[in-house]
Amino acid sequence: MIRELEGIVISETPYSESSKIINVLTRDAGVVGIMAKGAKRIKSPLRVSTEKLTLGVFHVYYHEGKLSTLVSADILNPLLNIKTDIIKIGYLTYIVELASQTAKQNGSNDIYAILKSTILKMESGLNPLILTNILELKMLDFLGVGIDLDKCIKCGNTKNIITISGDEGGYICSDCHTNEPLYDEKTIKMFRLYYYVDINSITDLKISEEVVDNINTILTEYYDRFTGLYLKSKEFLKTIVN
Ligand SMILES: [Zn+2]
Repeated sequence: MIRELEGIVISETPYSESSKIINVLTRDAGVVGIMAKGAKRIKSPLRVSTEKLTLGVFHVYYHEGKLSTLVSADILNPLLNIKTDIIKIGYLTYIVELASQTAKQNGSNDIYAILKSTILKMESGLNPLILTNILELKMLDFLGVGIDLDKCIKCGNTKNIITISGDEGGYICSDCHTNEPLYDEKTIKMFRLYYYVDINSITDLKISEEVVDNINTILTEYYDRFTGLYLKSKEFLKTIVN
């Protein structure tokens, strides 16, 4: 059965002299392994469209639970703005790895949808750090470690929230506050907005550098503490940003 799979190539592995096996995070079928025969040949029409980080539509002989076989592939968006900027490539590599790791733990099709929206907004020129943080925050639910953004993590109080702690894992009210770093109201509000925003509806991201930094710090702490994920692409990203 020929099946049309939209997705993004998350890895490519050489196979024999001329072929490769790609893994694609798809819109409808999770992560799918695909044999791309002849795709390593210089003249193969499959060569470019099977490279890592290609956003495309893959026509395959579909074999559930086994390797599918690639028939043809069309690039959906060449992502030229991202792919000509080393920093943005770093962000793209990271969010693709994060989404694919998340998809291994959770079969929801929303993971791909969120990833694709994030990538297209990044391609359109919006701030890659803010977009990455929005995606990170949204992935937490699928990883089973979502943040409760309605009440104090310690006592359940919904009022007098005075800060948010990545290390403690959520909001903290004035009664429970001990030595957690205090963040201003804008940071707390914006954090919530990141979580609820529909990425497709974002047209600009005018957020102060301080708030952006605060949120990135909180999310980094939270990821380190609660997700158990260690991603090489995140380490690489840290070396090229700053
Ligand atoms: Zn409390």
